[in-house]
Parts: sequence; C-alpha cells; structure tokens
Amino acid sequence: MTASGRTVSAVLSEARRRFTEAGIADPATDARLLVAGLLGLSATEMLTRANEALAGDKIAVIDAAIERRLQHEPVHRILGEREFYGLPLLLSAGTLEPRPDTEILVDVMLPYLRSLASSGADLHILDIGTGTGAICLALLSELPQAKGIGSDISSDALATAKANAARNGLQGRFEALRSIWFENIEGRFHAIVSNPPYIASKVVHDLAPEVTKFDPVAALDGGPDGLDAYRAIAKDAARFLRPDGIVGLEIGYDQRDDVTAVFEAAGFQRLASVKDYGQNDRVLLFALNV
Ligand code: GLN
Repeated sequence: MTASGRTVSAVLSEARRRFTEAGIADPATDARLLVAGLLGLSATEMLTRANEALAGDKIAVIDAAIERRLQHEPVHRILGEREFYGLPLLLSAGTLEPRPDTEILVDVMLPYLRSLASSGADLHILDIGTGTGAICLALLSELPQAKGIGSDISSDALATAKANAARNGLQGRFEALRSIWFENIEGRFHAIVSNPPYIASKVVHDLAPEVTKFDPVAALDGGPDGLDAYRAIAKDAARFLRPDGIVGLEIGYDQRDDVTAVFEAAGFQRLASVKDYGQNDRVLLFALNV
C-alpha cells in the first residue's frame, strides 16, 4: 500500500535519503533527475510545486523507480531516455547509454565538417556501432546539409536509432543499417565516426554495476586488449573515406598511443587528440596521409 498525499518535496527527500544510505554516488542529483523525470517536471517546477500533494499512483511509480535505482539501474535507463547534445534520445537494452564525454567527439569533429561543408559538399557521415544514434544524430542536427548512416549489429539498437532520428525530425537524413563493421556499407564518406566497444574483455565485469548490468556487453567488450574494434575499422576505413575525409573515434583512457599506432599503420595521420572532462584521453581524429 502506498500512502497518497505525500508532497513532491517529501518524495524527493525520501529518494535522496535512500540513495545516500545505499551509497549511490550522487544521491541528490539522481533523486532530483528521477523524481522530476517521472513527474514530467522541469527543475524550476520541482521548486515551485514542491508542496503539491501527489496521487497514490504517482507515488507508487516513484517508489518502484527508487527500488530499481537501488539495484544499480542508472536513472536514465529507468526513465528510458536521456539527452545527448541537446537531443532527447530513447535508450533500449541493445544501446549503450550515451555519456557526456562522447559529446566531445561531436565538438571536435564539427569544425572539420563545417569547413568541408563550406566548400559546397553535401556531407556524408557513417557512424559505426551507432547504438542510440547519438553521435550521428548530433552531427546531423548541427550540419543541415549532411546525411548519415548509423550502422549496428544489434537490430534492437537500429530500431532505437531510427526512432530517435524520427523523434528529432532527422529521419529524412538518417538511415539505420545492419552491418558488421563495413560489411554492408557502400560509398565514400566525409566522416567515419565511432564509439566502439573498447574495454578489455577481462575487465568488463570489473566496471561499475551501473555499466556491467545495464549497458549491453557487445557495446563494451573490445576483445583481449580492447583494441579489436579499432583494428577492424582501421583495416577498411581508407576504402570508405573520401580523400579529404576524417575518422573520429572515442577511445579508452589509456588507448591513445595504441589506437594511433593502429591507424598510422593503416595509412592515417593523427589530426587531434582531445581529453575528456576527467582529463583522460578520449577522442582521436585521423585523416588519410596524402
Ligand atoms: N565509456 C564507456 C564506459 O567505460 C565504455 C564505452 C565503450 O566501450 N565504447 O563506461
């Protein structure tokens, strides 16, 4: 039985207290995001409507969500969506939850792509292992003249990416395509972009339970040394890249030199290496050697 009549602020403090007691990393933020998200309230409304009493069914939904968070399910998985580069994106079982650090990859690529677009090119972007579609859709939303393909091996992910394109009005410029690496890809692209699985197999299960229990292992496990995906992409990227195109990659914190070596051996030069908000190497950009 759930008592109705508890206020927004009472429900919020209870969520915060339970998350704090359970040792959840950021209890106040998680409580606020979860309660606001479930009630459909903005940050301001959470304050102005703090003393409003909630109906019993709403309280039951919040209580169930709190239980899920206590089992380590991330807030945005519970809500079923999160924002990436200003775009609301649905999440599903087959998609990695987009991280704020991945927005840096979009930031780093945009100036190069804008400069290519200024010479009149209709940009063509390939996002390998697109998941929610996050990277490709963010680029398309910033580059009105661009078209993109998001490829994935997971049909669940492809359905989610497609729905996310439609949700953000980008369905006319985005194609979700099932492909293992370049297998079903045709054409040449101005940008090949990827946040591939890059965690070494033996440490995948040492990550936080929020990651290991809820992000799909196929989006995390990069093989014995974590570099399998980069080798697969580097092997064929040159055939699918326009001569003036760029490859943009998210990498693990200790992979800058190894991934650079893999791409240099395949005929690329590194254009940029950028750190994330935690000062870890996170993004590499490559172009073909001319
Ligand atoms: N950044 C993710 C994590 O460590 C991993 C993503 C990936 O392998 N591409 O939680």
